[in-house]
Amino acid sequence: MDFEPYIRDIENFPKPGVVFKDITPLLKDAKALTAACQTLCDMIVKHDIDKVVGVDSRGFIFAPLIASKLNAGFVPVRKKGKLPYTTISESYELEYGEDTLEIHTDAIQKGEKVLVHDDVLATGGTASAVCKLVEKLGGEVVQCNFLIHLTFLNGSNKLNGYDIKALLEY
Ligand code: IMP
Repeated sequence: MDFEPYIRDIENFPKPGVVFKDITPLLKDAKALTAACQTLCDMIVKHDIDKVVGVDSRGFIFAPLIASKLNAGFVPVRKKGKLPYTTISESYELEYGEDTLEIHTDAIQKGEKVLVHDDVLATGGTASAVCKLVEKLGGEVVQCNFLIHLTFLNGSNKLNGYDIKALLEY
């Protein structure tokens, strides 16, 4: 299925000069939603995934759907201060300033195979911080998959050595 017609460009969102990829047209279409989830699952070959880690907040849309299809558990990585139990954290640089992501200390067991999922791979700072959190807990990141990879932002440089897959590349 061609998913591109279901992605909408929003200019100057969330700030001037940015073209935001809006995935809500894909989400509201029953066929596209199901096909996108299936295609993301089909991209994972030869691996038994134990946990699918979804990234706050749009990563939470597909990660549990993928996890359910793969018979794996779902783990949320959230922005600082949102998770209720004990956490470990990882900070990463933004264009201006930095952000911090957290994961529960009991979310992943040593040796578990982990799929990291988010909606968009842009500069790679977010996904790279998530991979570090997973590895700090002893998990093995077997793939990072995304709906959209904005290749012109070179995010894959920050994910060197990881298997990166996406439904759409721009
Ligand atoms: P990165 O850390 O620069 O790779 O940015 C990735 C994060 O920013 C992801 O969690 C995305 O949800 C979000 N993001 C960046 N650009 C877009 C976009 O165009 N549409 C939707 N989310 C975006």
